[in-house]
Amino acid sequence: MIEKRKVVLVGTGFVGMSFAYALLNERGIDELVLIDVNHDKAEGEAMDLSHAVPYANGSMKVYAGDYSDCSDASIVVVTAGAAQKPGQTRLDLTAINTKIMMGICESIKESGFKGILLVASNPCDVMTYVASRVTGFDKNRVLGSGTLLDTARLKFMLGELLNVSSENIQAYVMGEHGDSSLVPWTHAYVGAKKVLDILSEKGEDASKLDKIYEDVRDAAYEIINRKKATYYGIGMSLCKLVSSILNNENAVLPVSAYQDNEYGHEGVYTGVPAVVNNEGVREIVKLQLTAEEQAKFDKSTNELKKVIEEIVDPILKEANH
Ligand code: NAD
Repeated sequence: MIEKRKVVLVGTGFVGMSFAYALLNERGIDELVLIDVNHDKAEGEAMDLSHAVPYANGSMKVYAGDYSDCSDASIVVVTAGAAQKPGQTRLDLTAINTKIMMGICESIKESGFKGILLVASNPCDVMTYVASRVTGFDKNRVLGSGTLLDTARLKFMLGELLNVSSENIQAYVMGEHGDSSLVPWTHAYVGAKKVLDILSEKGEDASKLDKIYEDVRDAAYEIINRKKATYYGIGMSLCKLVSSILNNENAVLPVSAYQDNEYGHEGVYTGVPAVVNNEGVREIVKLQLTAEEQAKFDKSTNELKKVIEEIVDPILKEANH
């Protein structure tokens, strides 16, 4: 349970600082602590961000710190690690970021941290697994941003296609935050009406949805090719998730959550809709997937398991985790 509103951010790069900037407008957060292997960068960012406080909605104290600051934090958000370069997939980052995540999580655990651990570093689902294994925290206390950003992209694109507010779209990207993700279109709604029904009433071809899926899946590549990194979308996604956790909202959000057979898989983290509150993931929302949707989910989850087995577990084993 969260008693104090203190947020620690590990990794003050593009993603971390976009999140931090968005968080400034959240009310009721007492402290934001910035940690980075490059402490000067964390200090500079803390100074710069502090100068935005007088005109922000929130009034938090922002400072550069170290892992001892996690001991009484409500939530630690990890955005540290190597980012995709043009042509790289998220899974290409596995070996390097497993080692980085391992070190960070050892320090977080050592601090006596008792709050919620949120991972955004890529490959996100795999890094959340690493965080869970290294800390040994209860599975509900460790979660990843998973397909939260992909879902924001989906809502935006569907809103444009159907000319409705993206806020009124209920739809999820599920599975890996990466190339094997899927959209269960039978569970996509505008208000209370199925997107599939809206399209068929308009006489529109459902292939438009295939194109939207591809654009969502490939969005990061398109952005990285043009500006080398993506960060505003994930920054706002993380802010939304952190405020839902701190405010004990019981919000339904797609996150990377520990699988305990809700969708036929165990021992792995992947993107599913879940009820999120100040204990982390309260429960996973079980959608009735069609056979085709389930097959895509299985393929995606099996790819994550393969990466874990072949790359991650040997690294963890060598480090005695
Ligand atoms: P970046 O290079 O701008 O920032 C990374 C930061 O991590 C740097 O400041 C670096 O000094 C720090 N760092 C590296 N090793 C560290 C360590 N051991 N301890 C503490 N800090 C350390 O990269 P970015 O663009 O901010 O991306 C960060 C991560 O977020 C990448 O893995 C990227 O792929 C991922 N990402 C995730 C999503 C998502 O939806 N989950 C979206 C975009 C990017």
